[in-house]
Amino acid sequence: MKVRVRDIEREGSVELEEAIPAARLPIDTPDQTRLEGPVQASLKAEIQNGAVWAWVQAQAKISLACARCLDRYSLEVRPAFDVEVPLTEEFLDADDDVRQHLLLSLPAKPLCSVSCKGLCARCGKNLNKGPCGCPSDNIASAFDVLKSLKLK
Ligand SMILES: [Zn+2]
Ligand SMILES: [Zn+2]
Repeated sequence: MKVRVRDIEREGSVELEEAIPAARLPIDTPDQTRLEGPVQASLKAEIQNGAVWAWVQAQAKISLACARCLDRYSLEVRPAFDVEVPLTEEFLDADDDVRQHLLLSLPAKPLCSVSCKGLCARCGKNLNKGPCGCPSDNIASAFDVLKSLKLK
């Protein structure tokens, strides 16, 4: 979302709504977090105290991998923030600010649900889809395995 600073000076205030294509906002993270579609964003820019101020609100659907079961799920985020640009700039371009605030609004540990059961430590089955048939004493048996390894 780009506004010419001269236009804001002339109009006093400029409002803009835009659907920013996902390709313009690369959010690269190791777990392949990605935008599910364009980011809806609105911006209102004004001159205040000798600088350009813009208030930006964005809305996006983001596909994330659950930290427990590794399944992908969709999360809606709505970051809102302001941007300041000196009057000497030719443009106010908020794209990179939108991108950064989308990243900031992502959870540090994404979970598909607070009650996500995760994967079975033994067979790797997604336990949200039902029990896997492994004996339920996973923790005890893991210790037994370690013990027997040490004795060898
Ligand atoms: Zn999960
Ligand atoms: Zn299992």
